[in-house]
Amino acid sequence: MKQQLVFEAPRRAMPPQHLADLDEAGRAAAVAELGLPAFRAKQLANQYYGRLIADPQQMTDLPAAVRNQVAEKLFPALINPVREIQCDAGETRKTLWRAVDGSTFESVLMRYPQRNTVCISSQAGCGMACPFCATGQGGLQRNLTTAEILEQVRAASSTMRAEHDGRLSNIVFMGMGEPLANYNRVLGAVRRIIAPPPNGFGISARSVTVSTVGLAPAIRKLADERLGVTLALSLHAPDDELRDTLVPVNNRWKVSEVLDAARYYADTTGRRVSIEYALIRDVNDQPWRADLLGKKLHGALGPLAHVNVIPLNPTPGSEWDASPKPAEREFVKRVRERGVSCTVRDTRGREIAAACGQLAAEG
Ligand code: SAH
Repeated sequence: MKQQLVFEAPRRAMPPQHLADLDEAGRAAAVAELGLPAFRAKQLANQYYGRLIADPQQMTDLPAAVRNQVAEKLFPALINPVREIQCDAGETRKTLWRAVDGSTFESVLMRYPQRNTVCISSQAGCGMACPFCATGQGGLQRNLTTAEILEQVRAASSTMRAEHDGRLSNIVFMGMGEPLANYNRVLGAVRRIIAPPPNGFGISARSVTVSTVGLAPAIRKLADERLGVTLALSLHAPDDELRDTLVPVNNRWKVSEVLDAARYYADTTGRRVSIEYALIRDVNDQPWRADLLGKKLHGALGPLAHVNVIPLNPTPGSEWDASPKPAEREFVKRVRERGVSCTVRDTRGREIAAACGQLAAEG
């Protein structure tokens, strides 16, 4: 079955406004509207971004008499965990969240010796219809709000702090959804992820990765924001003929256009672009495709490209599978021979279906 590309999310009632939806000016206005003194705005932001508290009843510097009102207007419970699964000896933890309207999406916290990464969702579902991706099969439910995106980050930070005495260091927009199809809300979330407290979580911009199927104009727009976040481009094929089917948005923006946009991103930000390539047996793993990939990337990005080969995580009901290891090794070798850096990504969470939208698909 051929699925339609969906850029516009279906019109649905959006969740109530939350403090995390607001920038500094918005917080000041909201606090004034509640009849509270101006300094409360900074205090609330400090509680949320600094102390990771989203329940006004726990905000001891807030007078008890105003806590209910603040809770109702600025801290509605937006997302609730409905399932949690762990693997890799507890170092990978996946959470299925349910929003107030019943939409579900997931985030995955991965702890490593040198870093702690959360993989977050930007949409409930996805409209990009990539046939190898579990999320792509279900279509788009709706865009997540900035606060719904940030709540996933806060939850992960809080887990790191409370349970592991550690710190969340990296964020990847590689959960459900196409972040650049929800541009403004994602941008608001990124700004508050990287702003230092009290205006944000204070995570370094280079440790934040926005992953996209390749919406070329939005890639250029993101470059012009000059945020310094890392861009990941889900390429998966070096030629239009195959990419038209693997990443259907390629019918709109071709490989050459998307590589031009990636080049613009790299030039504008000085950051290396991560090229994602899910390796699928007998589909995109041929030696000639490795050569072509290396050649095109070397031409377009030179040293500013890094290829992440991802062994395909088979989705239920699909006949596709990961490439055998010898084919994978040969693929990596050939890309490197063209002068392009290339590594195989580690695959956390496979046995709990944590990769690529599988949790919500299971329900
Ligand atoms: N829509 C964005 C971000 C979400 S997907 C994007 O496509 O980049 C995050 C990454 O996981 C993408 O590179 C995507 O292509 C990849 N992916 C999706 N399904 C996969 C699967 N079954 N096996 C391996 N990688 C997959």
